[in-house]
Amino acid sequence: MNFKDYDIGELKGVGPAMREKLARLGIENWQDVLFHLPHRYEDRTQLQRIGQLVPGEAAQVLVTVEHSEISFRRRRSLICRVSDGSGLMDLRFFYFSKAQKDKLSRGQTLLCFGEVSSGRGHYTMIHPEVKYVSNTSRPPLDDRLTPVYPVTEGLKQHTIRKLTDQVLLKLKAGQLPELLPESIRQHYQLGDLAAALMFVHRPPPGIDLSQVMSGEHPAKQRLALEELLAHNLSMLKLRSKMVREPATPIPPSQSMVKALTGQLPFQLTAAQQRVIKEIDNDLQQPHPMLRLVQGDVGSGKTLVAAMAALQAIEQGHQVALMAPTEILAEQHWNNFSGWFESLGISCGFLVSKLKAAERRQSLEQIENGDAQMVIGTHALFQEGVNFNSLALAIIDEQHRFGVHQRMALKDKAKHTGCVPHQLIMTATPIPRTLAMTAYADLDTSIIDELPPGRKPVTTVVLPDTRREQVVQRVADACQNQKVQAYWVCTLIEESEELQCQAAEETARQLAEGLPQLNVEMVHGRMKPFDKQAVMEAFKAGDIDLLVATTVIEVGVDVPNASLMVIENPERLGLAQLHQLRGRVGRGSLESHCVLLYHAPLSNNGKARLETMRATNDGFKIAEKDLELRGPGEVLGTRQTGLVQFKIADVMRDRMLLPKVTQVAKQLFQEQPEVSDELINRWLGRREEFGQV
Ligand code: ADP
Ligand code: MG
Repeated sequence: MNFKDYDIGELKGVGPAMREKLARLGIENWQDVLFHLPHRYEDRTQLQRIGQLVPGEAAQVLVTVEHSEISFRRRRSLICRVSDGSGLMDLRFFYFSKAQKDKLSRGQTLLCFGEVSSGRGHYTMIHPEVKYVSNTSRPPLDDRLTPVYPVTEGLKQHTIRKLTDQVLLKLKAGQLPELLPESIRQHYQLGDLAAALMFVHRPPPGIDLSQVMSGEHPAKQRLALEELLAHNLSMLKLRSKMVREPATPIPPSQSMVKALTGQLPFQLTAAQQRVIKEIDNDLQQPHPMLRLVQGDVGSGKTLVAAMAALQAIEQGHQVALMAPTEILAEQHWNNFSGWFESLGISCGFLVSKLKAAERRQSLEQIENGDAQMVIGTHALFQEGVNFNSLALAIIDEQHRFGVHQRMALKDKAKHTGCVPHQLIMTATPIPRTLAMTAYADLDTSIIDELPPGRKPVTTVVLPDTRREQVVQRVADACQNQKVQAYWVCTLIEESEELQCQAAEETARQLAEGLPQLNVEMVHGRMKPFDKQAVMEAFKAGDIDLLVATTVIEVGVDVPNASLMVIENPERLGLAQLHQLRGRVGRGSLESHCVLLYHAPLSNNGKARLETMRATNDGFKIAEKDLELRGPGEVLGTRQTGLVQFKIADVMRDRMLLPKVTQVAKQLFQEQPEVSDELINRWLGRREEFGQV
């Protein structure tokens, strides 16, 4: 029997209202119910003692009521003081009936399950689940873990459990088609799919609970592997759809690439040349290029992108370059203008903060094709921006883009009957494991070499109690050794405004304390052209000390700057710190970075700063970042809604990934029907929405 042919309407308890709620979870048929997996478990198989409770964790306790009272502090609530001989605890109820209040009287024994919080000197459980127990007998405890399912508003755990119960009964009787290839089942000695599902929905008694909770149990691993495979397949499918679209073939450049190369004061590295050639090959195809270029900070990705752009422009097409921030867009604009205008190529610029008249002019030039190279932020891909003949889109990416944004981009060339070639550059290296899952739809090129003569940045980690000394050292370096320096301010709040205020205040203090230096400031709230003026002055050597917010994080390029102080580096992720630090060490000068932290550091914070001190290798740092922060943070997926696995965990299951990638490729080619089934099973309608 095929579970996906049975509608949820055929289950008990599903009316129109319920159907609508379930649809919000993507549940429409029995297969969807079966693959709506618990995201965690609660352990009601054991009793804990109050004296040993850990705040923030769920626990089950057997307690006796000492006394109960209604409190009117802040909000009316019933507070019930309980004990178990090892300590006291409060139960707190905001909603309660008179009958409940009467039952919770002195001497009553209760079995409570809930999350423990600590407040006002002792532990509290807010709205615990309560079972009344007679004082003489020991209450029976659960013999198995309780599954907890992802739910939506108005849908109770209890309801989902009842639905799964019904479908699991059918599962016992029926058969579930096995979609994993025999080879992979043998390789990992995987058990039966139905048994694994049964296990995960209803873990049996007497098993190793920690294995189940942590996801290392074979049944969970078996499902995780299948899910990873399904995700990988869905990305391959997306890719195959994309690459079947028509694109403008771009023959190799005859003159312009040579002209730009001749104009550079240095030679391209072997790695740059190799990647340029890889892009060359892609561009010649009548189907869109989908290529990711990775390289460490300073490896010269921009120039590689410029060479690709030249090829398209030489053939009379337009190229767009999208940067993640305005300041970086401006920087690219400066670079490209400098390189291209001597070749007779005009560069357009579009960011959302442009004045109305400037914006109108930009839009016009983009539309009539006067702007051959168009540089901007995401504003480029909004409605109302019409390209004349977009053939190549270059995306300088900070976080993984959602599929929606990529689709918007695709549409910008619709009227030409073609899809633009896509070149994606990542700001920092992506850990291999993540690249395998999140970028499975792209070909990858790696610039694995830095331009010659780069010296690694020496990094020191100091507490901010030494701030005065650091200020003096910076002043000395600027004055006596003609060093140019960055002073980077960070703030805990995500608020750009507060961050800018902090930078303004710091700049004022530093300027006051160091009258012998020219101290300036740059932050995100300044007008684009003011920012640009400051950056130009810094580049020209007219500014000694540049106080900045993290807006300089990505891509700013001033080779003479060789010293950077980062305040409160513990607030930043490793990738961001690495990006920031990458602003120095770009020229031939010996460079230094001071990480001025505020004590005390968390263990995680210590590990992060130690990693920064110990290595300059962006690929190593990326791996460490993934280990310390997890994939969601590293990819910025909280914004894009990417990699929301039901049971797999990219970090935990990373050993599976190489095999998954390999099997996915094979399966996709050899058994497209099976691969569709797998995608449908695990992603369901999410695939149509492009949420992959
Ligand atoms: P990233 O890869 O971090 O984006 P950029 O493209 O900004 O790096 O390049 C960093 C700096 O290195 C720029 O000043 C650029 O002009 C310079 N650069 C690029 N390629 C080379 C090269 N082959 N030799 C020397 N300098 C180079
Ligand atoms: Mg860059």
